[in-house]
Amino acid sequence: MKSNKFNLPDSNGFFGEFGGKFVPETLMYALEELENTYNELKDREDFQKEFYSDLSNFVGRPSPLYFAERLSNHYGSGSIWLKREDLNHTGAHKINNTVGQILLAKHMGKKRIIAETGAGQHGVATATVAARLGLECHIYMGAEDVKRQSLNVYRIKLLGAEVHAVDSGTATLKDALNEALRDWVTNVDDTYYIIGSVTGPHPYPMIVRDFNSVVEISKIIKKYKTDYNQLPDAIVACVGGGSNAMGIFYPFIDIPETRLIGVEAGGNGVSTGEHAAPLNDGTPGVLHGARSYLMQDESGQIMDTKSVSAGLDYPGVGPEHSWLKDIGRAEYVAVNDDEALKAFHEVTELEGIMPALETAHAFAYLETLMKELPDTANVVVNVSGRGDKDINTVAKIDGIEF
Ligand SMILES: *Cc1c(COP(=O)(O)O)cnc(C)c1O
Repeated sequence: MKSNKFNLPDSNGFFGEFGGKFVPETLMYALEELENTYNELKDREDFQKEFYSDLSNFVGRPSPLYFAERLSNHYGSGSIWLKREDLNHTGAHKINNTVGQILLAKHMGKKRIIAETGAGQHGVATATVAARLGLECHIYMGAEDVKRQSLNVYRIKLLGAEVHAVDSGTATLKDALNEALRDWVTNVDDTYYIIGSVTGPHPYPMIVRDFNSVVEISKIIKKYKTDYNQLPDAIVACVGGGSNAMGIFYPFIDIPETRLIGVEAGGNGVSTGEHAAPLNDGTPGVLHGARSYLMQDESGQIMDTKSVSAGLDYPGVGPEHSWLKDIGRAEYVAVNDDEALKAFHEVTELEGIMPALETAHAFAYLETLMKELPDTANVVVNVSGRGDKDINTVAKIDGIEF
């Protein structure tokens, strides 16, 4: 896709000391096959044409960069711009990656698709592209998330995919990932595993980043340069596994004028230990096939996570974010549940745009950020998804029963 002087991962899949391929022997061959296919296809003209045609005709890209006038006025200084990934087909950035990976599956002749999902958005995005190509599809989802996200579960079923509720552990995203990996080990010959974030073993963090780093993001850079003769002062994105953030951060890594700010889920507060913010309060370790920051106790046991937003409720994070944190290129902060909920209501009322609860974490950080920045500052918020899927959660918190 895009060439970048930060040319990582290295050939072993490492971003500094993070990443790699920590998987059973049976999967090593499958990962190599995937990497070879990707490397062969990614710059080929016919593949690019197919990918971008699907992005424009099926996903509805390019999505606008929209000036949020009332939200900017609300903070009284600076200009806030919204990258509208929420306008994509199926309502979030995740479709960019699934549209790309299903093309890889097609080229590899795989007939069976599996995926894990947290909020259900990746499950929906995967079931959507599998339906379009008529492929068998199985979605693994934590039993707790199945309850929280019943609407998305039903959407996945309507799309013809099978949902497997996972009861182990905390019955959330990390447990769903474990089950999906287990399925892949068993059925590796005919099965393509579409990982939903910049997590998992190499080459997934690279592939998912590239597919989320679609072309119009470089147009943002150009637009700022030509229209305002400057670059965004800051880009803010929520970080669960980190795919929407990595997609928009990536073209800016070598542009130091632009601050890159990832917002993790602070849950009840980072100091309470009840959160999902491994970059703020975690240590390096291996989870789901890669080395990265994790929420783990002293004996390496993965800790329970807590967030109002199912899509951020994950104890790990992509290895490239771990690296960006350690080299100091990106900043990672955390926002608590109550702050995210407040931002959800504020953005909805001020802009007529109802953000996903995940995205609301990015918006909530503006409260702090806009005070630090000068009046002339331009800030881009990556609106990773729309809030329709979260209405039941928000209503319940507001004491409303349907
Ligand atoms: C899944 C999801 C996220 C979190 O995933 P990342 O890989 O961190 O981007 C954020 N926002 C929305 C709307 C999602 O559906």
